[in-house]
Amino acid sequence: LATRLPAVGTTIFTRMSALAAQHDAVNLGQGFPDFACDPRLVDLVAGAMRAGHNQYPPMTGTPALRQAIAAKIGALYGHVYDADAEITVTAGATQALTTAILCAVHPGDEVIVIEPAYDSYMPAIELAGGVVVPVQMALDERGYHVPWERIQAAVSTRTRLIVVNTPHNPTGTVLRDADLEALAGIVRGTDILVLADEVYEHMVYDGERHASMSRHPVLAARSFVVSSFGKTFHTTGWKIGYVAAPAPLMAEFRKVHQYNVFSVNAPMQHGIAGYLADPAPYRELPAFYQNKRDLFRAGLAGSRFELLPADGTYFQCVRYGAISAMPEAAFAEWLTAEVGVAAIPVSAFYRQARESGIVRFCFAKRDETLALALQRLARI
Ligand code: PMP
Ligand code: GLN
Repeated sequence: LATRLPAVGTTIFTRMSALAAQHDAVNLGQGFPDFACDPRLVDLVAGAMRAGHNQYPPMTGTPALRQAIAAKIGALYGHVYDADAEITVTAGATQALTTAILCAVHPGDEVIVIEPAYDSYMPAIELAGGVVVPVQMALDERGYHVPWERIQAAVSTRTRLIVVNTPHNPTGTVLRDADLEALAGIVRGTDILVLADEVYEHMVYDGERHASMSRHPVLAARSFVVSSFGKTFHTTGWKIGYVAAPAPLMAEFRKVHQYNVFSVNAPMQHGIAGYLADPAPYRELPAFYQNKRDLFRAGLAGSRFELLPADGTYFQCVRYGAISAMPEAAFAEWLTAEVGVAAIPVSAFYRQARESGIVRFCFAKRDETLALALQRLARI
């Protein structure tokens, strides 16, 4: 069979998790928590199953969950989405991202992707027949940031979509209000759409606020805003998330969604709708993860790793140039096999791998797990 995706192999996350298991390494590679989710959430989902919520839910998601999502977005970001016409529940953020791309991008359309970029964007654009236009983040003493003048320069008459991700995987960069203004300035007066990957929306630290596209009227009017309950509720294996978008965009999204998955598992929708009634779990998330970030950073402070800023997400990027001159993938493999701590090479987030001497650690781990990893990392 002639392949539709010649550049695609097994993801770096799968490969590094397998290598970590093979070497019994502490897995700070693939991003997922090693601790349990709230038992109350499990009870709510199990209760929904026992109550008989085991048949197809509505194609768009259960009304109660869509209403709970709209209420959360309204309370946090001040934009009121119509729960019926502007919110759809998806099988994780990945499906939402791919579906948004498939509905928005026509063959030959250009899509601007900011690198380093999460690995699912580019294959989805290529499946849609779109043309990826990569623009690299700037990297200086402030860490990684988005050079909007380069984004502006990459815009052409064929630009259909700009993909943004805040807080950003893998760099931990968070966009600020000034970034939203810059993006709004680029798209204002054009028909360019925005696909906003906001799966780490509740992991923004040091008192900063999440710069959701839905906060900004110009951007909210043209954005698909995607999030994931897997990140927010420590349930990455549940694969449930959502997309919010203005009604005309959502109508197109649902045409694809309807024939891609039709609908998303019912008991989890019922359980999560009930759980969302209490805002405490996601309101407490920044402090919870900020503690882990600080613990991990403090543990590395005396080491030969150089810490980059980590303003959001559950990732910490480090330079390792004082330890080794190896390329990133080789260094991550060496670290896994010889030191017993798995990491992800940031080069894997570029279409044409570029070497910056930086790897990513995930700190969404029990404090004991982080302590064991730090003990091993301190030896090199
Ligand atoms: N976007 C980003 C930036 C992510 O880090 C992830 C999780 N790895 C996803 C999307 C996918 O989320 P989900 O597991 O809900 O599909
Ligand atoms: N989002 C996770 C990460 O960045 C991985 C998800 C996956 O394995 N596809 O580590």
